[in-house]
Amino acid sequence: MKMKYQKPKGTADILPPYSNEWQFVEKNARETFALYNYDEIRTPIFESFEVFSRSAGDTSDIVTKEMYDFDDKGGRHIALRPEGTAGVVRAFVENKLYGPEHQKPVKVYYMGPMFRYERPQSGRLREFHQIGVEAFGSVSPKMDVETIAMAMDFLKKVKVTGLKLVINTLGDKESRDNYRQALIDYLEPHYDELSDDSKERLHKNPLRVLDSKDKNDQKFVADAPEILDYLTDNAREHFESVKNQLEALGIEYIVDSTMVRGLDYYNHTIFEIMVANSPLGKGEVTICAGGRYNGLVEELGGPEVPGVGFGLGVERLLLLLNEETQDMLQTKQLDFYVVGIGDAVQNETLKIVHELRQMGFATEQDYLDRKPKAQFKSADKLNAKFVVTVGESEMNDHVFKLKNMMTGDEQTIALKEIRTLKDLLK
Ligand code: ATP
Ligand code: MG
Repeated sequence: MKMKYQKPKGTADILPPYSNEWQFVEKNARETFALYNYDEIRTPIFESFEVFSRSAGDTSDIVTKEMYDFDDKGGRHIALRPEGTAGVVRAFVENKLYGPEHQKPVKVYYMGPMFRYERPQSGRLREFHQIGVEAFGSVSPKMDVETIAMAMDFLKKVKVTGLKLVINTLGDKESRDNYRQALIDYLEPHYDELSDDSKERLHKNPLRVLDSKDKNDQKFVADAPEILDYLTDNAREHFESVKNQLEALGIEYIVDSTMVRGLDYYNHTIFEIMVANSPLGKGEVTICAGGRYNGLVEELGGPEVPGVGFGLGVERLLLLLNEETQDMLQTKQLDFYVVGIGDAVQNETLKIVHELRQMGFATEQDYLDRKPKAQFKSADKLNAKFVVTVGESEMNDHVFKLKNMMTGDEQTIALKEIRTLKDLLK
């Protein structure tokens, strides 16, 4: 019996024509980011395990449960990247992008696969894709706001509707230390009732308890002290500026003081963009998440350089594309289909196809020795704008027939005039 192979659980094949939607999303992301003066960065898909464990934090879900890690043949502890920021920061430090020869802030974006060992379901895969951005070197609230505005712009460009921006602040170190203690004081009396995860996190990282998906934990979270009451003046000012600037740009937001985000490295502004009534479920789904991470560059061995960025889930975004988006996807059209009649014209059609492609036209031909009728049918199926036909008589006269499939007009053109076709399609 033949072995049947299947893709690994939690992965997907992205097949044509669906891959057009991916290209559409990626193209719009590139175009939007270019308007904000971001450049692309490409980092390895695997890194040393420590790059992720140091940055995401030892108590994060990503590090404790979701990492695809292994020892390679040289005994190095490697992990497939679960998110984009850590690798970009590692590259930023290793390549000294903080140096004087680089214009500040350094603004980069990436797109590519990420890997997390999670229970697969709609909008949740083990290999999934993120589009993300990072900006290094500015503490200005303007930078936070620009990042948020850019994400919103991009999502609007691909016509996602029902967007909801939720923001919060985690403050600076002093705010957080104060808040941390207040949270511990509040949660400790409920210790026995907390989930095992939250028990474990209570002293290591109490903020993480706020992020618990456990229903019972969430009851305590509802009445927990709010970070907003523990902010230092500096942290409060930063947050106020972010809010003012969002308002100045007409970007609506909601403050959710219990939002903490899954990764340890954030401080000051954090945000999520959710979509209401998504087809993914009854409630809301988060498609984009990010924030400021002023300590992360140092954490990964670099100087004190602030950063801010976001990551956006491509699969979740694609599930939200609607009819309006579909209309924006151009239906694929071929410029030319070249029909050959009889074996003798093989080389002739081959040369014409080659020439048309050199001229920049999407051109197709028959590869299956099919009869002219079947070739015309292919041309139709492929939505060709023009069909070129060459039989023995045309070949001998050094001409070819050209049919405009829109109008039905047909004309005979001298082979040596083929270059004039460049005016047919602009
Ligand atoms: P969640 O709470 O849904 O697990 P998260 O906090 O782990 O999300 P982030 O690490 O902030 O997610 O990643 C940013 C975005 O990447 C998410 O908003 C989501 O759109 C997407 N994403 C995260 N994990 C997955 C996954 N396993 N499959 C598909 N998309 C994902
Ligand atoms: Mg997660």
